[in-house]
Amino acid sequence: MQKITIIGAGPAGLLLAHYLLSRDRFQVEMYDRLDDPRLLENAGNRTFPLSLQERGTKALQGIPGLAEKIADRATFCTGTMLYSQSGKPRIVKREKPILCIDRHELVTILLNELTQNHTGDRLKITFNCCCTEIDAEAKLVTLETENGERLTTHYELLVGADGARSRVRECSVNSTDLNCEQSYALDDYKSLFLNRINSDESIALAPDKIHASNIGNQIRILLVPQPGDRLNGTIIFKRDKNPFENFSTVAELKAFFQENFPLFSQLMSSEEAESLFERAIGRIVTVKCDRFHHSNSILLIGDAAHAVSPSIGQGCNMALAEAKVVAELSDRHGDNWSQILAEFSRQQVPEARALQELSDYCFPRSKWLILEFFLRLRIRRLLNRWFPQWFKPFLFDLIFDTDCSYSEIVQDYRFWIDRVKRNTESFQ
Ligand SMILES: Cc1cc2nc3c(=O)[nH]c(=O)nc-3n(C[C@H](O)[C@H](O)[C@H](O)COP(=O)(O)OP(=O)(O)OC[C@H]3O[C@@H](n4cnc5c(N)ncnc54)[C@H](O)[C@@H]3O)c2cc1C
Repeated sequence: MQKITIIGAGPAGLLLAHYLLSRDRFQVEMYDRLDDPRLLENAGNRTFPLSLQERGTKALQGIPGLAEKIADRATFCTGTMLYSQSGKPRIVKREKPILCIDRHELVTILLNELTQNHTGDRLKITFNCCCTEIDAEAKLVTLETENGERLTTHYELLVGADGARSRVRECSVNSTDLNCEQSYALDDYKSLFLNRINSDESIALAPDKIHASNIGNQIRILLVPQPGDRLNGTIIFKRDKNPFENFSTVAELKAFFQENFPLFSQLMSSEEAESLFERAIGRIVTVKCDRFHHSNSILLIGDAAHAVSPSIGQGCNMALAEAKVVAELSDRHGDNWSQILAEFSRQQVPEARALQELSDYCFPRSKWLILEFFLRLRIRRLLNRWFPQWFKPFLFDLIFDTDCSYSEIVQDYRFWIDRVKRNTESFQ
């Protein structure tokens, strides 16, 4: 039986553990720096909604019963309502519903199912235990518990599934010939928690639509319905246009929402306005690596390998899909990890590069290009319906509703991506 050590019990690490334990030749040891999510009633500021489409849901379906458990706690959205500043909606419909689930909820279900399906000594999970150092030569990983105790353990294969600020990646870059670049996306965000209904004002937003609004190309809000009439989402803004910098009181924050997002401001409770005022700003790290492995003993997956801007909501979809890719490669190559890891990098690095381009340059920021985007969307959907043999689906439909490779999509839509890129660069 081979021991796999996974750092990070997020979506990528947990689904990988499911896949490995569904083969009877592995045992899994997992560590996460945070508390067990099952013990937190409310993940509060740490969570945000995730939308999962074809790639993510296909990966979940590989583990019997898992997709159904997740679907039970998810909402399904059949389109997006885009609101003008006056609150007038425009709908962008979708044929295939998108599964939307809170990150905390997703992780809790993945963990619950994992511990229920795999009892005994093949699975060991330790929370509040942070990876601090790696000795890649001696294959040793050092971890620190919340009360400062340090423990060092030997690994055969170490998987860094520890997110965008991965310590496994950092240590590997410092001690091996792995090359990675890390930078911050142009946008920052704060999580936002609103009510979907305000009966006093006769407002009830659709429970099966994503709700969105923006002020020019600077500030946008995305809200996703949750079970229990809640709307969870994010307010996203360019770093140099951070509206929160200008507020010295909660009343100023409320006035800003009333003026710029009048509809959403009527769904914000006084408690949420106070929490939002205090809530920390999230900075989005993006990561580019030249490969995702070192020798036959270190593998990076999910955000640890290739964090991207969340603008088109694909990071988690790709992270989940990669857990399945690792398991499939291990079925094909047995326990030849140098072959498995090299093949993983060969397949996934170009995919990550393509996803990076799509995330940065798929949706335009300028008003005129946004109009052109919707015109193209409408025309391409009609052409695809009438002449599917000649016209592939529209860019977003390929990303969301198919598992066509990201590199192929970039190739097909190179013209549009370059156009948005030139336009975006002219704004910076
Ligand atoms: C605002 C926002 C909205 C998003 N929306 C979407 C969306 O709609 N759809 C989508 O597909 N993606 C979306 N994403 C991206 C998605 O959240 C990530 O791609 C996904 O969470 C990656 O999963 P992961 O398991 O690789 O990393 P993470 O989710 O970051 O999990 C990493 C885990 O590692 C642990 N960890 C970190 N460091 C250490 C350490 N040193 N030692 C031990 N443990 C450690 C962390 O506690 C965490 O549990 C969004 C991201 C943001 C910020």
